Amino acid sequence: MNPLHPTLSDPGSTLQTAAALRDTLGRPLRDLRISVTDRCNFRCVYCMPKEVFGNDYQFLERKALLSFEEIVRLARVFKALGVEKIRLTGGEPLVRRKIEQLVAMLAALGLDLTLTTNGSLLAKKAQALKDAGLKRVTVSLDSLDDAVFMRMNDVDFPVTRVLEGIAAAAAAGLAPVKINMVVKRGMNEHSILPMARYFRQSGHILRFIEYMDVGSTNGWRMDDVVTAREIVDTISAAMPLEPADPNYSGEVAARWRYQDGSGEIGVIASVTQAFCRDCTRARISTEGQLYTCLFATSGHDLRDLLRSGASDRDLLDSISAVWSKRADRYSEIRTGHTAKLEKIEMSYIGG
Ligand code: SAM
Ligand code: SF4
Ligand code: SF4
Repeated sequence: MNPLHPTLSDPGSTLQTAAALRDTLGRPLRDLRISVTDRCNFRCVYCMPKEVFGNDYQFLERKALLSFEEIVRLARVFKALGVEKIRLTGGEPLVRRKIEQLVAMLAALGLDLTLTTNGSLLAKKAQALKDAGLKRVTVSLDSLDDAVFMRMNDVDFPVTRVLEGIAAAAAAGLAPVKINMVVKRGMNEHSILPMARYFRQSGHILRFIEYMDVGSTNGWRMDDVVTAREIVDTISAAMPLEPADPNYSGEVAARWRYQDGSGEIGVIASVTQAFCRDCTRARISTEGQLYTCLFATSGHDLRDLLRSGASDRDLLDSISAVWSKRADRYSEIRTGHTAKLEKIEMSYIGG
């Protein structure tokens, strides 16, 4: 037997596998994002624009989706390869039926388990998710102004219901809650300061995200990106900020804290300050394609392997082979031309 590719029941050698697995840029595999559905009850203009994801859009059929058992089996193999953290995402993960059952099954693996949600169903589900073993949640919220938020989610969803979801998550102990705000020029840059003020002493961590050229349907233009620098300057002019050290090496969000000690924010500068060299993330799409970059144009079919009788060892070998050839660093080489490439949609690949 190849000593680097042991069976999963051989924990000693499995550790060797995890330690040895590196991509071509020396990056280990540490985080796994799993998209549990390509569907969503929102139509955010930067992610699932209505003109494309309209009433006649063909979402995946149920049998195309990985089952909970298939997801857990893959998660176990990824854990053996070094994954320490799993994030459930989508689409909107809370629209997948019985999601708390999947959470309970994954929680049994003993990994750091989190979920990103638009918050719309969180007030109803937060306690059940916590009871099932979820550790924390990230909630997306782009404005506190109903008119702006509704224009961005494009389904007239009100801010208060998301705030109720955030409160329910915190009350259930899914804390600290992280709040993600995507900033798109001409849409919500005026919401930066009100959001910063509102969340400053809330105990939740607000993170601003530069608008990205994910997928190929959102009509991304560099001019629409409000840069991390602009975001920090806007807040700092009213409430002075200073840089804070990262919590751990490879942290995606740059941390800034208020000089008066009243809290901190994060800024995810995926466009203007690429962080590819520390990128340890793999993604599994709703139908079981493995992607080694958010901006990938093609994936590797794990569902076919799962459904054609592959052993855990076969899965482990295939995933290691893909990871060891990985050379992705899209954000470092982004140009106006690459932005126009046919990339996989974020709602499918998993944000
Ligand atoms: N539906 C869930 C939600 O909105 O939180 C999870 C999936 S969503 C694709 C994951 C994250 O990606 C959200 O925080 C969302 O705001 C962000 N996102 C989507 N499209 C984006 C874009 N074009 N640029 C930057 N962030 C984006
Ligand atoms: Fe849905 Fe999340 Fe995409 Fe908005 S960002 S359309 S909530 S998947
Ligand atoms: Fe990772 Fe790709 Fe994003 Fe770079 S562009 S940080 S490689 S997901």
